[in-house]
Amino acid sequence: MPEGDTIFRTARSLGRALAGQPITAFRSTYPNLTRFHDDAPITGRTVESVTSRGKWLLIHFSGGATLATHMLMNGSWHIYRPGERWMQPRANMRIVLENSSYVAVGFKVPVAEMHTAASLARQKRIPAAEIDVLSPAFDAAEALRRLLAHPGEALADVLLDQGVMAGVGNVFKSEICFVTGMHPYCPVGALTEAQTAAVIAAARRLVGANVLEDSSDHIVTYRGRQRRTTHASDPGDSLWVYGRAGQPCRRCGTAIRRRIQGDDARVTFWCPRCQPMPDGSDVDG
Ligand SMILES: [Zn+2]
Repeated sequence: MPEGDTIFRTARSLGRALAGQPITAFRSTYPNLTRFHDDAPITGRTVESVTSRGKWLLIHFSGGATLATHMLMNGSWHIYRPGERWMQPRANMRIVLENSSYVAVGFKVPVAEMHTAASLARQKRIPAAEIDVLSPAFDAAEALRRLLAHPGEALADVLLDQGVMAGVGNVFKSEICFVTGMHPYCPVGALTEAQTAAVIAAARRLVGANVLEDSSDHIVTYRGRQRRTTHASDPGDSLWVYGRAGQPCRRCGTAIRRRIQGDDARVTFWCPRCQPMPDGSDVDG
């Protein structure tokens, strides 16, 4: 599952290729999109901007149309020059947007909706910009209120709730808990207000650090050793705890613990010494 930083970078790349230019061709395998296009053509409209909201990517066209896509596990957007060979088979193509310089292809994008300004405002699934940790409109005070509304739930679970804060995925979840010293299974109600505020600030900081212009494609939260690897390496090399079960904590040397929970096998990593439960209880790793 791509996390918010991945969608943000995709939106930025698509924006560079598409924004300010009129669309010269539109195709899709989805009848809901082609029906919209038949009634109110996308061809001829200018792309005004491409934005991300949590894990949703929004392409805004002139005339008040917005294409909203969600990548789920396997979807992706690619940008090609006209005539350039695609990196995926044609059978995976779901959406094509062309202008005079670029061809943007949505491969295996499982969720795609065309919205008018009115239907975009009405829908409930795409998070508002105020909820997105990467948005300049993010409202930290409101995020604090939403987080504290789940006092009985584990912090790790609430961090993944895209209605509380959009953009935090499974990797960032464990990393945010580590850098704030919070146990991932600590109930939110056991956090002080200062700790809750620190968790929200860490979410913005860690996810935000991964959308800088020089960010790599994999998530980096730990830069202690400035390791530069040129080949596919252990994803844990650039992280504090995620993917590091059994390895020594980078701060205290204690073995990192891992726990898999839930039907979708969400995995959580933490240091039992740096992230104690407030009541001193233990959680099996
Ligand atoms: Zn530690």
